[in-house]
Amino acid sequence: MAHADGETFADIRDAVRKTCAAFPGSYWREKDENAAYPKEFVDALTQAGFLSALIPEKYGGSGLGLSAAAAILEEINKSGCNAGACHAQMYVMGTLLRHGSDAQKNTFLPAIANGTLRLQAFGVSEPTSGTDTGSIKTSARREGDHYIINGQKLWTSRAEHSDLMLLLVRTTPKEDVSKRTDGMSVFIVDLREAVGRGLTIRPIKTMINHSTTEIFIDDLKVPAENLIGKEGTGFRYILDGMNAERILIGAECIGDARWFINKAVDYANERIVFDRPIGQNQGIQFPIARAYAATQAADLMVQQAATRFEQGLECGSEANMAKLLAADASWAAAEMCLQAHGGFGFAREYDVERKWREARLYQIAPISTNFILSYIAEHVLGLPRSY
Ligand SMILES: Cc1cc2nc3c(=O)[nH]c(=O)nc-3n(C[C@H](O)[C@H](O)[C@H](O)COP(=O)(O)OP(=O)(O)OC[C@H]3O[C@@H](n4cnc5c(N)ncnc54)[C@H](O)[C@@H]3O)c2cc1C
Repeated sequence: MAHADGETFADIRDAVRKTCAAFPGSYWREKDENAAYPKEFVDALTQAGFLSALIPEKYGGSGLGLSAAAAILEEINKSGCNAGACHAQMYVMGTLLRHGSDAQKNTFLPAIANGTLRLQAFGVSEPTSGTDTGSIKTSARREGDHYIINGQKLWTSRAEHSDLMLLLVRTTPKEDVSKRTDGMSVFIVDLREAVGRGLTIRPIKTMINHSTTEIFIDDLKVPAENLIGKEGTGFRYILDGMNAERILIGAECIGDARWFINKAVDYANERIVFDRPIGQNQGIQFPIARAYAATQAADLMVQQAATRFEQGLECGSEANMAKLLAADASWAAAEMCLQAHGGFGFAREYDVERKWREARLYQIAPISTNFILSYIAEHVLGLPRSY
């Protein structure tokens, strides 16, 4: 049964639903059980042009706005699929688009748009720095026409399934810059050349199937022409992309929440216990209604943030609140759905436990809830900075 929600971009959503219909729960269960990358699904999205939605038409993309991209990601997750397998392509590409040279854009963007090149990997997190990105240790030093990079990245998702990786490194030690976020630079690393020549990828086993990895970098040579923008200002470029990332992840969370709600409504109508559908009990229907109301409210914030982003207005607080509220709405819906399914919620064939595990990620990544609350406290409410 379909349930009413903010059906913007009806044509795009319809097309996404049709593509996703070829990838039912059984497909995702099999991938989950084998920790396998959903390549066929990502290929289908690429061929349909969904992953190049944000690439301008002059580079072969569809040149759509962030709201349309958000609708695509929401619809993927609402269909029971997992946009986490490929969402980075949408927001990582923004750094290249906004700060890359013409030569870099002409080389990479058309190939990303037509699917010849995959830009799915984004190496920021490291084992020792945690959320404190200013303390990353991976470093690059210039030698003639190239840079030599050394260090280690952690949680670099999809690196084994990407041709390119956006990599944040230090080009000046933290001790030698006045602002700790200065002295960092972004490179575009061609993984096809780098693996085995200074770069090693090791998969990490996790509670969800997310193809995440650990990357060891030992004297990796990267051409200087692969530096994005100006040396030393890379952190600003990454920050620039964060509002888009928060909004798009928020949209995915809305999609998950809608999947849980639809699944719970269907089950609550079908499952008969004590000679009546369990959905007749207010103890079951109220949590579903509450999850729906929370999802609608969070969706409004996601839409508002996306609209402000598209209009070029300041949207840091809206983007952060959108991610916070949407991640909370999807997690509350996940809990509700598991509870409504009783024991069957634990049976893999219902897909609820898998989606439940997947929805949990967004309390932690790409930014943990605490740091969004800190952002609101400090930047919106004027409270003292806490870290
Ligand atoms: C499946 C998965 C995929 C990921 N994919 C990528 C990727 O592709 N690329 C990438 O670069 N990273 C990726 N990440 C990393 C992710 O962005 C980080 O895990 C996340 O930012 C949190 O960092 P951390 O794990 O180092 O936690 P830490 O920074 O060690 O923090 C641990 C806990 O302490 C809390 N905390 C720490 N300091 C404070 C403070 N001052 N105030 C309040 N609370 C605090 C945090 O909120 C968190 O709950 C991924 C992570 C996972 C789990």
